Amino acid sequence: MLDVLLPQRCLVCGAAGPQLCAGCRAALPVLRPPVCERCGAPTAWPVRRCNECAGRRLAFATARAAVAYNEPVRLLVAGWKERGLRRLADEAASLMTERLAHPGEVVLTFVPPDGDRRLKRGYHPAESLAAALAVRWSLPCEPLLARSGRSRRQRSLSLPERRRNVAGAFRARTETGPRVVLVDDVYTSGATANAAAAALRAAGARHVAVVTFARALRGYSGRQ
Ligand SMILES: [Zn+2]
Ligand SMILES: [Zn+2]
Repeated sequence: MLDVLLPQRCLVCGAAGPQLCAGCRAALPVLRPPVCERCGAPTAWPVRRCNECAGRRLAFATARAAVAYNEPVRLLVAGWKERGLRRLADEAASLMTERLAHPGEVVLTFVPPDGDRRLKRGYHPAESLAAALAVRWSLPCEPLLARSGRSRRQRSLSLPERRRNVAGAFRARTETGPRVVLVDDVYTSGATANAAAAALRAAGARHVAVVTFARALRGYSGRQ
């Protein structure tokens, strides 16, 4: 509703017009190969495991993202999350389908909202993104996951704390099919994606691929 009533501005540069103007869209830090085959981190050459994911037990088979999480992307995701700008979900989905291969015969699902956001439908980017991707890829989207308990917000935690905090945070609401694509807005440490993928695996999924709009990069140096 608010999308229609408020004057439109680009969330990144503030120019009047669409929520993401053509110039800022073209300047987004698109992630290009080579990336780590497993976790999708950009690498100097193709590798099966990288420094970021080597030695970690990962419940997902692959993780891929469309863009790196930089300041413009942070502004976009914040607008999407805090103001429920649904049109951004479609924008993000279009960037993702431009960059990522069609996943084949899968069911799409999404990381469920935490307690703060559960009641505010439309303010949950992962869900609106999964729905937009389902339309573009002509795939079913089902809410397969629920939060199983209370986990603290991840933001202020260190990496090991994040992994402990989120382990066991999800449960599947139903049995799943064999191949699932798990959608989230941002891949940060991978801890959330991993915990959600583990819950899907426990409910019958044999192959879980993670797709996100953005990915935080360690030591990101503006490489595009
Ligand atoms: Zn702009
Ligand atoms: Zn990796």
